[in-house]
Amino acid sequence: MTIRAIELVRASIDLVTPMRTSYGVNTQRDVLYVHIIGDEAEGWGECVALPEPGYTDEYVDGCEAMIRAHLLPLVSGSTTAELFIHDSVAIPHNYMAKAAVEMALLDYWLRVEGKSLATFLGATQESVVSGVSIGIHDDIDELLNVVAGFRAEGYARVKLKIEPGNDIEPVRAVRNAFGDDLMLQVDANSAYSLEDAEHLAQLDAFNLLLMEQPLAEDDLAGHAELAKKLSTPLCLDESIVSLESARTALEIGACSIVNIKAGRVGGFLEAKKIHDLCIEREVPVWCGGMYETGIGRAAALALAALPGFTLPSDLSASKKYFHVDVTEPFELVNGALAVPNTVGIGVAPKSDVLQRITVRSEEFRV
Ligand code: MG
Repeated sequence: MTIRAIELVRASIDLVTPMRTSYGVNTQRDVLYVHIIGDEAEGWGECVALPEPGYTDEYVDGCEAMIRAHLLPLVSGSTTAELFIHDSVAIPHNYMAKAAVEMALLDYWLRVEGKSLATFLGATQESVVSGVSIGIHDDIDELLNVVAGFRAEGYARVKLKIEPGNDIEPVRAVRNAFGDDLMLQVDANSAYSLEDAEHLAQLDAFNLLLMEQPLAEDDLAGHAELAKKLSTPLCLDESIVSLESARTALEIGACSIVNIKAGRVGGFLEAKKIHDLCIEREVPVWCGGMYETGIGRAAALALAALPGFTLPSDLSASKKYFHVDVTEPFELVNGALAVPNTVGIGVAPKSDVLQRITVRSEEFRV
């Protein structure tokens, strides 16, 4: 039952729709996999970091360097996910890098034990209601067409990315075109300041499920002030990086809903603790997405199947992102994705696809 080696795999997979970052447009998802090879099983982890810093300070090249130099040396033949998280406490932050290694360790040891990640985490849902996150469109007719396309595919909830100058009118147009029944929410990715409170309050007219991360990542106090000025519930994403940050945010009223992404909080063990805190406080949570390939998507679905995840996820079908996914594709059935329930994360890369998308790989003996 010993871990023999760890392989770091860098791969590049074509995106169906280009991903826009502050540094430009990417037509491919640059991804880092952590592959654990042991006596009895193999485990896979996917790093959710994007190619460039922006969403947070982490980025995929940085995560690879962190894992190689500082995290892999913490893994011995018998290291469990719990032990790894315990031993990596001395290294601050680096949540996405740690989460990638943790996912691979969880997958490996759960396969050894014959248990699924969903069961291990305490999942209670067999499928997860799928929402879709739609980027900023300058042309409102084009935006309405995109929304109509996803609605036709069966997506139950729509999230619109907003920014100053591209907010009230697109939301009004989507609400008017699709009616009051559409579950609609917005994500500002920190693009506003507290001085925009009056402007943002105009969105209260559109019966949104929530407004996600309007202010800067480190501005919990500002979010608490803003929350008093809006009737739309505030949800935090970038600001929540740990159990403690979630506790503080809830304590001061900076949000009333939490978006949980395992990669952003250092892994599934921490994500579960945030979920449990939110259950205790009757705060609804939902699972965001990071353009994960099938490896990361499978694990995210196990998390999103926990009982506190009562709002639709941002986990969409594989074909929204990739022409060919690295695993069997996740498909939308009645607006939901099935939660993998076989051992570990429940999926593994298809060797022919993995071979085709791999840019380079390196194996380290443990
Ligand atoms: Mg977000």
